[in-house]
Amino acid sequence: MDLTPSEEHEALRATVEDFARKEVAPVIGELYERGEFPYALVARMGAMGLFGLPIDEEHGGMGGDYFALCLALEELARVDSSVAITLEAGVSLGAMPLHRFGTAEQKRRWLPELAAGTKLGAFGLTEPGGGSDAGATRTTARLDGDEWVINGSKAFITNAGTDITSIVTVTAITGTQDDGRKEISAIVVPAGTPGFRVSQKYSKVGWSSSDTRELFFDDCRVPAENLLGERGRGYAQFLSILDEGRVAIAALSVGLAQGCVDESVRYAREREAFGAPIGSYQAIQFKIADMEVRAHTARLAYYAAAAKMLRGEPFKKEAAIAKLVASNAAMDNARDATQVFGGYGFMNEYPVGRFYRDAKILEIGEGTSEVQRMLIARQLGL
Ligand SMILES: Cc1cc2nc3c(=O)[nH]c(=O)nc-3n(C[C@H](O)[C@H](O)[C@H](O)COP(=O)(O)OP(=O)(O)OC[C@H]3O[C@@H](n4cnc5c(N)ncnc54)[C@H](O)[C@@H]3O)c2cc1C
Repeated sequence: MDLTPSEEHEALRATVEDFARKEVAPVIGELYERGEFPYALVARMGAMGLFGLPIDEEHGGMGGDYFALCLALEELARVDSSVAITLEAGVSLGAMPLHRFGTAEQKRRWLPELAAGTKLGAFGLTEPGGGSDAGATRTTARLDGDEWVINGSKAFITNAGTDITSIVTVTAITGTQDDGRKEISAIVVPAGTPGFRVSQKYSKVGWSSSDTRELFFDDCRVPAENLLGERGRGYAQFLSILDEGRVAIAALSVGLAQGCVDESVRYAREREAFGAPIGSYQAIQFKIADMEVRAHTARLAYYAAAAKMLRGEPFKKEAAIAKLVASNAAMDNARDATQVFGGYGFMNEYPVGRFYRDAKILEIGEGTSEVQRMLIARQLGL
């Protein structure tokens, strides 16, 4: 099984690495401190084609594959995770549901701007009452003539309230199935629709420059044709979107884990204690070696999941394993990198402080570590 990235993939990786080092690194610290959304960086990433990587050329995309998106996310997250998650959520949660399940008219209307990164889409699944049990959705959508009338709320939705957000796809109960279970469908709600309101930005522990909002729907009316794909398929749709998304989050996590190694090696060479660079002490060397092992093994896990995905084989278990392993690696490396930096690790002026604050959410978003274990156990027949 060949997991080697192609020449095109490597060229893309090098381009994004260069962009992250030269354009993201110099400005992100201040944006992060101020909690500002990185509009200028998003515009640059749009111009580079990153938002259209796995989207077909007919709809303004680059016609690449999902692995290309993963490599871009890894390189961005080596430098900053707010920028990386803005791209991840914009593509994997904002554009891909339309790309995979949208009608020709829905794609024509919304996809080109999402692929260009001039607009952002969001995906509203989680509700204030719970995210892990996604089937427990309470938001409702009732068909009234040729309109859906949506009522309810969604919590923690990424990219939902930026100045360039164009749509939010939300899951809602649209009826009852023959077996008595809820019928859940996905519906596209354009930003600015009367009855659709977003909260102020949450005050978060990390991902400070990423946009996260609560959404409220109060008799919000959208045309019947805004139904995404088939009625009643919303649950199945988001499960497959989340399988892909987990590979992307794993790639992002690997990037953060590798960024911790990069910073720690640099610092361990420069910082002296007891008359020698701290990197000459085996305790520090072993700590950094363990960090590299975690980043490397987590990368192999997401490459393996992506390889199965691209071959069109079932990859649910591999995606869950990759997400679990990589988010653990990110969390462990962020803790250890902070330790290598000593007191400076606790100062916001160094990236490792940001990595520390950004790592925890990786064990929570797009399915918690417990949910990944549930998925793996289920795939094993338990
Ligand atoms: C910054 C941020 C951005 C996000 N972006 C989005 C987005 O764009 N779109 C979106 O839809 N959602 C988004 N989310 C929501 C995220 O996916 C959820 O927070 C996550 O799925 C967990 O759901 P919850 O917070 O409701 O926790 P809960 O489901 O309430 O879980 C609480 C705890 O209980 C554990 N638990 C739950 N059930 C079980 C069980 N059966 N067995 C063992 N343990 C269990 C969980 O693992 C967790 O530790 C975002 C969240 C954050 C914080």
